[in-house]
Amino acid sequence: MTQHAAALDLKRTRRGSGDALVDPFGRAITYLRVSVTDRCDFRCVYCMAEDMTFLPKADLLSLEELDRLCSVFVEKGVRKLRLTGGEPLVRRGIMTLVTSLSRHLAAGSLDELTVTTNGSQLVKFAGELAARGIRRINVSLDTLDPDKFRAITRWGELDKVMAGIDAALAAGLQVKINVVALKGVNEDELGDLVSWAHGRGMELTIIEVMPLGDIGAERLEQYLPLSLVRARLSQRFTLEEIDYRTGGPARYVKVRETGGRLGFITPLTHNFCESCNRVRVTCTGTLYMCLGQEDSADLRAPLRASESDHLLNAAIDAAIAAKPKGHDFVIERGGKPAVARTMSTTGG
Ligand code: SAM
Repeated sequence: MTQHAAALDLKRTRRGSGDALVDPFGRAITYLRVSVTDRCDFRCVYCMAEDMTFLPKADLLSLEELDRLCSVFVEKGVRKLRLTGGEPLVRRGIMTLVTSLSRHLAAGSLDELTVTTNGSQLVKFAGELAARGIRRINVSLDTLDPDKFRAITRWGELDKVMAGIDAALAAGLQVKINVVALKGVNEDELGDLVSWAHGRGMELTIIEVMPLGDIGAERLEQYLPLSLVRARLSQRFTLEEIDYRTGGPARYVKVRETGGRLGFITPLTHNFCESCNRVRVTCTGTLYMCLGQEDSADLRAPLRASESDHLLNAAIDAAIAAKPKGHDFVIERGGKPAVARTMSTTGG
């Protein structure tokens, strides 16, 4: 063994086991979603209350700590990293983190680094994201109507998001549009959104509103079952079943008239946990093993307790060994939150 190889080997031993992550139900955990901030420049009505109290900045993991945490997961077999939030692109210095994480893409130890964004900062960042090896992003957009957009996001401007999407496409990024189906708000627009997205070469996924966090609005008023959405879309389009899966919760069809792909995420009408390959970390280093359960593990303490990654590795292993079998969203319980934290805390 050369001196360099021996040093690397020693480093690996010191850092921890690097064992692959497999939960008690035999599911390999290969996908990590990281909420890099709980802050957002929008206040979507189904996501946050208008007067949200955010975490003190001192509680947040630094960019270096986030990099170290993500890198340990990559060593342990995670192949896909998604940066989310809050709004990931409002975290100061976010491109420093993207740049440092992109080394795992270059090294072949990560298949994909990606971002979920509301699009408000894309004019500024799209080119840099593409230059760092990001190939695909998700942009959340629930309406094409500027007034409705303002009503849903409370603070957002549709023009800025549209310009951001243009910038992303011009930079060569593949864009997937995520739409939350909201009863009485955008339900009459979903077909137009499909045509618009597919017409611009973008995939679109429709998401059922999930009972997460107390956001001060009546859940049952927002809830629109996707079974109904799908039935209505079938009157306008020919939806062809396809065998496309990403290991995630979405189920896909091809729209014959547009040639585009349409996804449905139906946590409330369809249980997708059996194929779950993911866990989530918040910006304070709390690991949530399931979006819809309270089970969590603190990774910040072991991260900060030692420069070696042994403690962190042990904490991650113990957490994965306790990953719940599935979630427990039930809208019939009166729209009460299944878990107290909002999507912006856990990282949507
Ligand atoms: N700010 C980024 C964005 O807008 O995409 C990332 C974070 S946001 C929390 C991620 C996604 O979660 C968005 O598509 C948002 O619409 C969705 N979301 C938030 N709360 C939700 C809820 N209660 N049910 C379903 N989707 C929700």
